[in-house]
Amino acid sequence: MSLDPFANLPADLPSFVTHLECSITGERYDADVLHGLSRVGRPLLVRYDLPGVRAALTREVLAARPADLWRYRELLPVRSPANIVSLGENATPLLTLDRVGAARNARAPIVKDEGRLPTGSFKARGLVMAISMAKALGVRTIAMPTNGNAGAAAAAYATRAGIEAVILCPDDTPEINVREIAAQGARVYRVNGLIDDCGAIVGAACKANGWFDLSTLKEPYRIEGKKTMGLELAEQLGWTLPDAIFYPTGGGTGLIGMWKAFDELEAIGLIGPERPRMYAVQAEGCAPMVRAWEAGERHADRWEDAHTVAAGIRVPRAVGDFLILDAVRESGGAALAVSDAALLAAVDEAAGDGVLLCPEGGATLAAYDRALTDGLVARDDRVVLFNCATGLKYPMPDRSRTLDRHGDIDLAAL
Ligand SMILES: *Cc1c(COP(=O)(O)O)cnc(C)c1O
Repeated sequence: MSLDPFANLPADLPSFVTHLECSITGERYDADVLHGLSRVGRPLLVRYDLPGVRAALTREVLAARPADLWRYRELLPVRSPANIVSLGENATPLLTLDRVGAARNARAPIVKDEGRLPTGSFKARGLVMAISMAKALGVRTIAMPTNGNAGAAAAAYATRAGIEAVILCPDDTPEINVREIAAQGARVYRVNGLIDDCGAIVGAACKANGWFDLSTLKEPYRIEGKKTMGLELAEQLGWTLPDAIFYPTGGGTGLIGMWKAFDELEAIGLIGPERPRMYAVQAEGCAPMVRAWEAGERHADRWEDAHTVAAGIRVPRAVGDFLILDAVRESGGAALAVSDAALLAAVDEAAGDGVLLCPEGGATLAAYDRALTDGLVARDDRVVLFNCATGLKYPMPDRSRTLDRHGDIDLAAL
């Protein structure tokens, strides 16, 4: 068996990308050319020859492929394996929280544990695609703002691809993230502001220096990578979808990507018209989508003075706000805010099932709890919670005790 998972791929992957499309006007753009946002400043979406994909990507074809993200390559934008910059994007497991379920007399919620991916977060799914496409399209330097995990993934993949990476993060970004970004070869700057303040500097620097702006949804391919969460989930559930998905929402790439994935899966005949209710979960200290959803708006105003311990969802403003809110509405879901206290308590509770969530993952469990109490989800609903990063990256309370090896140890009391 070859160690190189791409050794047996043809030099040109069967590629079904037809064009890109503005997510708000539908205007068409050429594929295979470097693009940022559309002319009206909105995200571009990748479109495929879905009848062609339908003929090529069957259950039988999938059954013979490794359990990684590239098994869905007919629905991905990279055309040549030579441009795939992989760090081993393995499929992530579904874990039931049995005690959490039992305590609520409910079906055990299922955690999709994205902390198992390279660089310890699901940002790897988006960034492996964005960087592979940046490499294919000749980019030399990328820049992006981050709350931590995206910067770490961008740094790792860019360095591997031989692309220079400049990363800006708020100065209170978790220390481990700042250091892992630098350790993986990027230039990292701490900025006295929030992620959108960092984004403004990145935009200006890209313009001034001819760098490529890799900000969330400001290039077309991170969505395609994140979309694989939806493809993988459907396949893991035997080509069915859950009743409800709880997604910790910052820029919303994953929620938007999964919603796109479900449409593509239906178009290629792997699932039917059923859809899960999508719940966009935010923290009470930064909940622009929840406020817009409750007001019935399609776009969200900036959230001032954003604060939450769940750094990954501290995003005051999202360029894809309408894509998040459209998906939540169409699905019959909701946007829900939870307190920091509730999300940290949820991290503790899930640990009782042996699953160490990140704070953002804890937010989904806290939101599930609220949805259950408010009657938005039923006790026997099949519910999937997204844990987007390994809990190991975050501070944990010290609950250890000490022993004096020179003293008398009361062994029975240990
Ligand atoms: C980035 C991030 C999120 C939010 O993801 P989006 O797709 O940008 O909404 C949630 N949790 C963690 C741990 C993250 O790093």
